[in-house]
Amino acid sequence: TGRLAGKRCFVTAAGQGIGRAAALAMAAEGATVIATDRDAHKVGGLGARGITHLPLDVLDDAAVERAAKEAGPIDVLFNCAGFVHQNTILTCTDEEWDFGFALNVRAMWKVARAVLPGMLDRGRGSVVNMSSACSSVKGAPNRFLYGTTKAAVIGLTKSIATEYVARGIRCNCLCPGTVETPSLHERIAANAAAAGSVEAAQAAFVARQAMGRLATAEEIAALVVYLAGDESAFVTGQAIVIDGGWTL
Ligand code: NAD
Repeated sequence: TGRLAGKRCFVTAAGQGIGRAAALAMAAEGATVIATDRDAHKVGGLGARGITHLPLDVLDDAAVERAAKEAGPIDVLFNCAGFVHQNTILTCTDEEWDFGFALNVRAMWKVARAVLPGMLDRGRGSVVNMSSACSSVKGAPNRFLYGTTKAAVIGLTKSIATEYVARGIRCNCLCPGTVETPSLHERIAANAAAAGSVEAAQAAFVARQAMGRLATAEEIAALVVYLAGDESAFVTGQAIVIDGGWTL
């Protein structure tokens, strides 16, 4: 029983933050979840909750192919892996640019490419990609590379959706505002000196959200569950904003 009963879900970056919350939420709804992360020890703990775990660095093309084979038939792919660079057009380095596109965009292509043939064979599947409100939806200061890559995710999403709309495959992406996760705390720490204190850096993130608070990873996971399951059967190609009013 559960809203995702019988579905097999493959999640990247399931070790912490939104990916972890989504893996737990999908399992709670009856799905079989293959939780993957670059840091194997982070997903190891999920095994205790009945979730299968696999180490996977999505930047490693051969490992992506192997993991997709090992996982078997997949109904839902949640492409969650991504990195938030804090830079501007003037400070972004070539290395940051290449890494940002490799992780935030190219790896999504590679993972979806590995999983899609199986979905097409069975005539069903839902691909959920992680974009951001900071993308083609909205600009944000000090997010030059990040916003550029996350805009590309929306294009990638619409392209997959268009290609396979008549073959049982749906593809959507999430555009969250600021979410309370471990990496957000790293960004807050990195901004503390410029903001004057950790508290001031945190307050600046909270102030962006019209609701006056950050999202929880569980609130974002609830949207992943919806897009993964048959309740959203008529939804494809969409970039769904979940941002506490940031874009109002
Ligand atoms: P996080 O940044 O705290 O954790 C990221 C996870 O990704 C870690 O477990 C890490 O080990 C894993 N990872 C990193 N590189 C990897 C790789 N090469 N292969 C596999 N796994 C790898 O988690 P988060 O903040 O929930 O972010 C997850 C996604 O959500 C990202 O794509 C991010 O851009 C997006 N997002 C986050 C926010 C936010 O405010 N936190 C807002 C919008 C979108």
